[in-house]
Amino acid sequence: MSNSKLKQDLIKLLGKEKVLSQDLDLLYYSYDSSFLTKLEPARPDAVVFPKSTEDVQKVVSYAYQNRINIIPRGAGTGETGGCIAIQGGIVLDLSTWKEIIEIDVNNMQVIVSPGVVHAELNDELAKFNLFFPPDPGSSKMCTVGGMVANNASGLRAVKYWATEPYILGLEVVMPNGDIIVTGGMKARCIKNVSGINLTKLLVGSEGILGVVTKIRLRCFPKPRARGIAMAVFDQLDDAPATVMEVYQAGILPSGIEILDSSAIMAVNDFKPEIKLPDAEAILLFEVDGNPPSVEYEGQVIQEVAGRRARSVEWATDPQRMVQLWEGRSVTAAAAARVRPDGSRIFAGEDISVPISRVADTLRALRKLAEEHGIQIVNYGHIGDGNVHTAPVINPEIPEEVEKVMGFVHDVHLLAIEMNGSTTGEHGVGVVRKVYAELEHGPAVEYMRKIKEAFDPAGIMNPGKVF
Ligand SMILES: Cc1cc2nc3c(=O)[nH]c(=O)nc-3n(C[C@H](O)[C@H](O)[C@H](O)COP(=O)(O)OP(=O)(O)OC[C@H]3O[C@@H](n4cnc5c(N)ncnc54)[C@H](O)[C@@H]3O)c2cc1C
Repeated sequence: MSNSKLKQDLIKLLGKEKVLSQDLDLLYYSYDSSFLTKLEPARPDAVVFPKSTEDVQKVVSYAYQNRINIIPRGAGTGETGGCIAIQGGIVLDLSTWKEIIEIDVNNMQVIVSPGVVHAELNDELAKFNLFFPPDPGSSKMCTVGGMVANNASGLRAVKYWATEPYILGLEVVMPNGDIIVTGGMKARCIKNVSGINLTKLLVGSEGILGVVTKIRLRCFPKPRARGIAMAVFDQLDDAPATVMEVYQAGILPSGIEILDSSAIMAVNDFKPEIKLPDAEAILLFEVDGNPPSVEYEGQVIQEVAGRRARSVEWATDPQRMVQLWEGRSVTAAAAARVRPDGSRIFAGEDISVPISRVADTLRALRKLAEEHGIQIVNYGHIGDGNVHTAPVINPEIPEEVEKVMGFVHDVHLLAIEMNGSTTGEHGVGVVRKVYAELEHGPAVEYMRKIKEAFDPAGIMNPGKVF
């Protein structure tokens, strides 16, 4: 079908103001935050801005009849090319459909449309002393729909885990235009084991099984107190050992972050006034809860970490907490500056390994970087084994791009070798689908069968995940 016919049809369905098809407008939609789309941007044939389930249904039904691909998109902060029309088609930009439909305080849940931004939702929930705990670093930009599709999480996954356990039900426009509600048509309960759990199947399915148009999610009471501990280590292995000893002491912090020597150096170069101690590793513990429990947990962490660390500092004063955490807050930006002519790229940045193998993984990453001649900065969510590696290259130099792609491939193989996963939170999208068989074996065939059952015409976000 010609682009002008497609545009006319979409305007007939939704009205002119909800359709984009000018070349220049479409260019923006060739990218997300992945390095892949910097190398290979892919322009969609059209972009639409649905503002209701009916809008989504109209477009999906039309696409189904005409065998046109549909690509759901939130804020485009994904790191994997997941929302890119790599095989052409219509992008459904859901980021302008931001409606907090109902905050059901008594039942500790909220119903939202997919374009609501994570931080904005938590600002509203805070008025009722509630919060939605998963906390991606992109909180101020990413949509709840994108978080559902990618099962996003963040540094508090140690205690609060990822998006999935909070999703009680979804409204989904299926690839043939049908509308289903998972988790019970009329349900407002929190506990529910009725039927095959389609909600769980859809969360993390990266937009390849349907378009999420409504989300019913569970909220938690907002913790009233917080504390931060910083522990400084001369030996890398002492950092993961301390994490395990803190757990064994009966403490579950809300977050435990690691900066290795490469990250410490990057932060000190970027902002010397932060003055991170020169060390092999720094651990940052975050504890939350009620004031007496936070104090108690802080005491235990100081005592346990003090056995191996050169120094430990504990703070509950808001200003001091910000200072202790500042090194971690600026790590991503600092990584981008370690080479004046370089930029930090998002590729191979999200491996997940067993906590007991984090130190080995960090050493292996340094060795791989040396072998490939790539500069890297390492940090991550050590409390759950999610290691973020930031390769820094000059992306305008083809030889550097070639070298880094070799490095990234080895990083993904390393993750599987370490009994881990190629992705702890960012997802598979286009960039990691080649590892599906290696990581999951024959299970991939059953993933394909599920995809075919949901989407026999193969129009829903094709070319992603496997
Ligand atoms: C600076 C930065 C920090 C980040 N930090 C984190 C982090 O700490 N933790 C983490 O998990 N991620 C992180 N990310 C990655 C990203 O923000 C998350 O994956 C986020 O959930 C993507 O949301 P989005 O709205 O931008 O989705 P998009 O990038 O637009 O889309 C992501 C995927 O979701 C699908 N999708 C979007 N909306 C729908 C819908 N309504 N129905 C069906 N499918 C849909 C798309 O097709 C695509 O496959 C970070 C990204 C950046 C740029």
